[in-house]
Amino acid sequence: METTTVTTDRLRDILDRIEAFMEAEVVPLEAATCGKTWVEIAPLLEERRQRVKAAGLWTPHLPEAWGGLGLSLAAFGRVSERLGRSPFGHYVFNAQAPDVGNMEILIEHGTPAQQERFLWPLLRGEIRSCFSMTEPEHAGSNPIVMSTTAVKDGDDYVINGHKWFTTAADGAAFAIVMAVTDPHAESPYARASQIIVPADTPGFRLVRNISVMGDEGGGWASHAEIVYENCRVPQANLLGREGAGFTIAQERLGPGRIHHCMRWIGICERAFEMMCAYAARREIAPGKPLATRQTIQNWIAESRAEIDAARLLVLDTARKIDDEGAYAARVSVSVIKFYVAGILQNVLDRAVQTHGALGMTDDTPLAHWFRHERAARIYDGPDEVHKARVARQVMKQYGVRL
Ligand SMILES: Cc1cc2nc3c(=O)[nH]c(=O)nc-3n(C[C@H](O)[C@H](O)[C@H](O)COP(=O)(O)OP(=O)(O)OC[C@H]3O[C@@H](n4cnc5c(N)ncnc54)[C@H](O)[C@@H]3O)c2cc1C
Repeated sequence: METTTVTTDRLRDILDRIEAFMEAEVVPLEAATCGKTWVEIAPLLEERRQRVKAAGLWTPHLPEAWGGLGLSLAAFGRVSERLGRSPFGHYVFNAQAPDVGNMEILIEHGTPAQQERFLWPLLRGEIRSCFSMTEPEHAGSNPIVMSTTAVKDGDDYVINGHKWFTTAADGAAFAIVMAVTDPHAESPYARASQIIVPADTPGFRLVRNISVMGDEGGGWASHAEIVYENCRVPQANLLGREGAGFTIAQERLGPGRIHHCMRWIGICERAFEMMCAYAARREIAPGKPLATRQTIQNWIAESRAEIDAARLLVLDTARKIDDEGAYAARVSVSVIKFYVAGILQNVLDRAVQTHGALGMTDDTPLAHWFRHERAARIYDGPDEVHKARVARQVMKQYGVRL
């Protein structure tokens, strides 16, 4: 997606304004929303979204022509870190997954009619969307094996299949569905296509919001199981070329992983600050705060080193994608995906442990992140898949084909 080079001064100004907004308007929402459902929280978030729009910080990831801030990927990465400091940050700025990826797909591959009907309302924040690829019956790590089909009938596609973990499907206006359109294509990567399915299409059946780590979420925070039963949509809902489903998905994954990794670093920074502040104020003996204990000092030092190293790796990968394209950066993208997901687990675990019983409660966002960010090691490719990819590229240089 086309971006412009942002000057250091302009980026500093944007980051300062976003930091100030997050601290004043978003972080305080956490206390007010503890234990509430998505439906209860949504009006509060909507109000903040209007203020982000008024502040001119809406959809910061997009080019200016589409109403965004026209940032490079590396510059948006730094924004994503700031937004990641609260579970609501990305949503309040309309920069949340999976809508961000779907916006990018529609900008790059949507027809003018598709953009008019699906993209512009998404950009304005009037609707939400979801991305429906993973199937319970097949290994999502190897998505070329899938059962969902889209068969041509007259001017339509008729879609049948079973998906799960379609994030944010509850209340979404449409899904981008990955379905096999040519089961006999020679390349397995040319068999599937991406097709827009409005959620009110007959045959689109949301079976349930899956309970994930004890939480069914709801709304944008849901992960749904969906059955597509003779779901009929016009062929005009095809995105890009028929058979280009995996190519399009691949294009969105590089930038998407930068967004996620920088969001995780934002979580790490906030958890780190909470850990240090608690270690400073919690007395374990008269006049002796927790921070006087060497175990805590080790956690502080190790976390500081890991977070700083992770940030450098991710921003370097983002710069590589900006300068040389996603393909050139594919190994670095796999490195950051498993490395930063692991750092996130370490830092959160230390922060929870430092808080003792308080870390178990929902009085701080730590327990929410501890539950829900375990998934970081699984979605967008499990650790093991990314490690194998890195090793494969490295070992090529030693004449070994893995
Ligand atoms: C919170 C969350 C949100 C998600 N959102 C979406 C979404 O919006 N849309 C969507 O379509 N999907 C979504 N997913 C699904 C996600 O993309 C898949 O879970 C992921 O691709 C892994 O597929 P799987 O769960 O089928 O695991 P499998 O592929 O069955 O793998 C199981 C385990 O086997 C191991 N493994 C797999 N392959 C290898 C290998 N080659 N070498 C060694 N070990 C291996 C790994 O440890 C892996 O965790 C989401 C998942 C989660 C948890």
